[in-house]
Amino acid sequence: MSEIADKSLLVNNLPVKSLVHNGLTIEGYSRAAVQTYWRLPEFKIGFDLGAHPWMFMGTSTWFVSHSHLDHIVALPVYVARRRMMKMEPPVIYLPEHAIEPIEKILKLFTRLDRGRMPCDLRPIHPGDEIELSREHVVTVSATKHTVPSMGFVVWERKRKLLPELVGLPGDKIRDLRLAGTEVTSEQRTPRFAYLGDSAPEGLDACPAMYEAQVLVMEITFVAPSHKKDKIHKFGHIHLDDFLERRARFKNEIVIASHFSTRYSNKRIRDLVARKLPDMLEGRLHLWL
Ligand SMILES: [Zn+2]
Ligand SMILES: [Zn+2]
Repeated sequence: MSEIADKSLLVNNLPVKSLVHNGLTIEGYSRAAVQTYWRLPEFKIGFDLGAHPWMFMGTSTWFVSHSHLDHIVALPVYVARRRMMKMEPPVIYLPEHAIEPIEKILKLFTRLDRGRMPCDLRPIHPGDEIELSREHVVTVSATKHTVPSMGFVVWERKRKLLPELVGLPGDKIRDLRLAGTEVTSEQRTPRFAYLGDSAPEGLDACPAMYEAQVLVMEITFVAPSHKKDKIHKFGHIHLDDFLERRARFKNEIVIASHFSTRYSNKRIRDLVARKLPDMLEGRLHLWL
């Protein structure tokens, strides 16, 4: 069983906002120091386990960006729920330093809860490439935060005929292929990127983030009174950093999230509207 078959049994335990773009559904919620979780149902993957909506349980592969509690604390709950619901143990990719402590935490919770917590924890490092399927791969990049932290790009890959062979009759191409000549090359499209928590350097270090069709990023601070230099030390992005880089965002959709709890939703909307009245030609979505 991979999904809960009877949808009327889905318990609505947490806020989830969603958006569909170009055949891709982005679901999730993120506020700094509160909780962060995202899911891409079509790719059957999720990012961060700061809390876990009951409806996300059927997704069996997760990527954790870093070990701050608002991104990881629901990992035991998620693992235990899947076992209770007789689902396969999930695969969870984590920064390597987090694996051993999480294994210990799961053992301790097993003692308290008297239930096993089966899961496949896999270490990730910047530069890794994880194959989801023949069509999709995830690449990992380092971001800049106060603990080791990573961002992710989901690529769609297709094999395309080499340009020099375009126009050649099919039987000629077949003969070349049968003779062992490579007739295609792999083409990759960045469909989705998730920055996680990061100072601007983390974004700049991964150019594919600026190219991805959909980018989910943090803009934790928006008020002029919060100075961006100070914010960079905490490993976060200010609205002013976003404005400085506006020409670089080639994304079709940019989702800004992980806003500080210092701001009301109205204040965030007002401050962004003042500095960015066109909302990046309508491409910027405030995840509130
Ligand atoms: Zn965070
Ligand atoms: Zn963090």
